[in-house]
Amino acid sequence: MNRKLNFNAGPAALPSEVLQELSEQMVSYQGEGISMIENSHRGKSFDVLYHETLDLFREVLNIPEGYSLFFLGGGATLQFGMVPMNFLPPEGHADYLRTGAWSDKAVEDAEKIGSVKLTFDGKPERYTTMPEADQVTASRGASYVYLCSNETIEGVRWVSWPDTGSVPLIADMSSDILSRPLPIDRFSMIFAGTQKNLGPAGATLIIISDELAAQSNKDLPAYLNYQVHSTKDGLLNTPSVFTIWATKLVLQWVKRHGGAEGMEKRAEKKSAMIYDAVDESGGFYRCPAQAEYRSTMNVVFRLPDEQLEKQFVAEAQQRDMVGLKGHRSVGGCRASIYNAVPEEAVGSLAAFMKEFARNHG
Ligand SMILES: *Cc1c(COP(=O)(O)O)cnc(C)c1O
Repeated sequence: MNRKLNFNAGPAALPSEVLQELSEQMVSYQGEGISMIENSHRGKSFDVLYHETLDLFREVLNIPEGYSLFFLGGGATLQFGMVPMNFLPPEGHADYLRTGAWSDKAVEDAEKIGSVKLTFDGKPERYTTMPEADQVTASRGASYVYLCSNETIEGVRWVSWPDTGSVPLIADMSSDILSRPLPIDRFSMIFAGTQKNLGPAGATLIIISDELAAQSNKDLPAYLNYQVHSTKDGLLNTPSVFTIWATKLVLQWVKRHGGAEGMEKRAEKKSAMIYDAVDESGGFYRCPAQAEYRSTMNVVFRLPDEQLEKQFVAEAQQRDMVGLKGHRSVGGCRASIYNAVPEEAVGSLAAFMKEFARNHG
């Protein structure tokens, strides 16, 4: 079958082996005569699948004891509000590192709940730069420190992680979870929407230390309280069964391809192919992002003018390359090259970029 070269920002490419297996198992899951998505989430089949999925996460992300894992609804966006609802007390404040459009949205929601201190603000530089991790400290009395590991829209990422000592560090890793090994114990909480590196849309992975979960705001409705989900093993209510099933298959695929270390090597190689095409174009292409903070997942680049950008996206589409238009808020072009995007697809894009620059430069 002829599959398009998929550079969508999210929902994004899935490994074709995973799609194949889902379709083979869709009608009758493992010969049971019933589909996984028709089954009770309290039944044996789902229970086995669910715990295999969580175990796979623990393995590929090297998650130590003392952390709970579960999936929530509401996308990563719900977490922008849930984090401060749980951990930002009315008389306190939280530190936010505003590095792009996604952390900005988190700031906006947190400000509705309590007091936010912007300890870094990339906005004046149009989010082209990032803080140096070793210069980040928690401000006095902060309830937590919040960051977004990879800004999907601007294409900048944290290269290393701050050490916030005893102040909980909370991270939105929606667009680069599992693209590199992580020192999980630096973080008290990590969340990630599934639809970029983990699977289809429909769930948000939560990794939270038991210590932080215990500090959840007890006055919140059950669903909004992390501690409730943690003590119910993530099964307070019906989870997103299909998404969890697909995510499990993606995790097995990640394991077969070298785990988090393997994904990091792939990401470095793939992103270098496109950044090299940019850097060797004699200025035809340029990346707004400062070189040392360039994302390995979302490669954002511009052409000499908007007309050429339009033409680039249209010609790429004729060659079955889809999803290359930049986010509407920043314009330009963006190639999202998440884990499942094959190296060959990225190679084709880099070759097309060179050809386009020759024809129009
Ligand atoms: C996509 C994205 C989100 C939003 O995810 P939803 O699941 O659509 O709410 C949040 N943060 C980052 C970094 C993202 O890339």
